[in-house]
Amino acid sequence: MFDDAPPHGWRVRHVAHYVPGMTVIDAPTSQMSADERRVAELVDDLLTSFPPATTDPTVFLGEQFDRGLAWVQFPEGHGGLGLTPKLQKQINERVYAAGAPNPMYRNPIGHGMTGPTVAVWGTEEQKSRYLRPLFTGEEIWCQLFSEPGSGSDFAGLSSTGVKDGDEWIVNGQKVWTTLAHLSRWGLLVVRTDPQAVKHAGLTAFVVDMQAPTVEIRPLRQMTGEAEFNEVFFSDTRIPAEEMLGGPGDGWRVSLTTLMNERVSIGGTIPTKGSGTISALTAAWKSVPEDRKDPALLDEVMKLWARAEVLRLTNIRANQNRKMGDPGPEGSIGKMASADLNKDVLDLAVTLLGPEGMLYGDYTMKRPRFSSDTDSVQKAFLRSRANSIEGGTSEVMYNILGERVLGLPGDVRVDRDVPWSQVPRN
Ligand SMILES: Cc1cc2nc3c(=O)[nH]c(=O)nc-3n(C[C@H](O)[C@H](O)[C@H](O)COP(=O)(O)OP(=O)(O)OC[C@H]3O[C@@H](n4cnc5c(N)ncnc54)[C@H](O)[C@@H]3O)c2cc1C
Repeated sequence: MFDDAPPHGWRVRHVAHYVPGMTVIDAPTSQMSADERRVAELVDDLLTSFPPATTDPTVFLGEQFDRGLAWVQFPEGHGGLGLTPKLQKQINERVYAAGAPNPMYRNPIGHGMTGPTVAVWGTEEQKSRYLRPLFTGEEIWCQLFSEPGSGSDFAGLSSTGVKDGDEWIVNGQKVWTTLAHLSRWGLLVVRTDPQAVKHAGLTAFVVDMQAPTVEIRPLRQMTGEAEFNEVFFSDTRIPAEEMLGGPGDGWRVSLTTLMNERVSIGGTIPTKGSGTISALTAAWKSVPEDRKDPALLDEVMKLWARAEVLRLTNIRANQNRKMGDPGPEGSIGKMASADLNKDVLDLAVTLLGPEGMLYGDYTMKRPRFSSDTDSVQKAFLRSRANSIEGGTSEVMYNILGERVLGLPGDVRVDRDVPWSQVPRN
């Protein structure tokens, strides 16, 4: 079912951990700390017992999970060893260098966002049930937050959950749900207390995406593809034990998801000159010598410098995170990478000349990867979404303005009013 290679050679977004060409850390040595050594020995055992070249990818990932090498910071028995997340880099570098499958390609929303949310908010039963098949890619996940009337203002959402004995009955519509058409499970947030202020009346659930009361309709994008969907819930019954956190915890649960989403989207640290900027340098090299003028080169170099500044900012952010200060860098990386991707691909298409206008056949496809891109032209079209998905750039400016620069806050007239009394269309 899955192709574990990146969808194409030069550009993969939404992948937080794997960077082609990164340095490989050696096998166990005497200079390592006890934790590093433990991890290195487990990786050795994994790679020796299940060589990636000859092991079915699902089996390999299951073995990686069982050894606690999936998300090393998660508790033992749930894909981790309860160690610092720093050690995941050591694991990833070694397993990817050995040709191991990347769980992020198989299940991007699950691996980057809903898995970490289940780990923080799930019960023991939920963690045991969901995390392993999520990591192996046997069960794909989607994130059901946005609604037609609530995207940036996601806390104002209107889908409802009403308690009925040991179940909750859900009604409403979600939108832009990436990969819902492939998903086994969804992380759903609905309003369970309309009398509470908007952030306080939300509750999160794990929902069965294959239930007959869940209807999934494709939404077609400017690339011609439909990677996302509208999802309709009509009296969908969810068992009470599928709640994540308690009633009213939905906002806090979703903050865990959104923090992971921003880092997952914007926090990738490519090697120098790799990532999206490599599309531009490749396009520049393909320009015939008689069309290479200094003004164009100047534009290429400005973008190259911006890409390098973002790369260094993400390295600094990573180091701050390791020292326990998550800070605002998730929003900086998310915002800066959106603008940069768009500008880089804009110029790359320009450099291609008339060829830059040629693009496929617009046949509607249902991609398996949320960021499938197989040409510069397609990447250019897809990059328009970068400043919308995972929170718009304007919302990121607000976060940075208010929380970092201490500027006066956005006007929020509905914050202290019961949701049921907030005027809406
Ligand atoms: C490719 C893609 C994939 C997505 N996948 C998912 C998914 O899997 N699950 C999911 O739940 N959602 C998903 N989304 C939805 C995404 O989170 C929303 O589109 C986004 O949060 C913006 O919401 P909106 O589209 O309703 O726009 P709106 O919130 O209506 O915003 C419209 C415009 O107003 C601006 N604006 C809004 N509020 C403010 C403010 N306070 N200050 C300044 N400007 C403001 C916005 O920046 C924007 O320009 C996806 C979106 C895209 C594009």
